[in-house]
Amino acid sequence: MRVQAVRMTPEVQQRLLKSRIEAQTLTERDILCPVCGYRIQRVYSDATGHLSVKCQKCKSINILNLAYFRRIRGKVSR
Ligand SMILES: [Zn+2]
Repeated sequence: MRVQAVRMTPEVQQRLLKSRIEAQTLTERDILCPVCGYRIQRVYSDATGHLSVKCQKCKSINILNLAYFRRIRGKVSR
């Protein structure tokens, strides 16, 4: 019997792999807390819609429309 640290179905693994490959062609951008400027989340350039985020630093919870909070990074840091 094989011991797996993380239980993932092959289907989920496949989706994760596909997502990672697709993301290589996209630009990353940081979503910053509108209150304190702390980095809350990192999304990719094709991300749209609304995001409910909680800041780890100032604990404020905000709903962000990604269209209004665009902060494109010049480079992809990886
Ligand atoms: Zn904050």
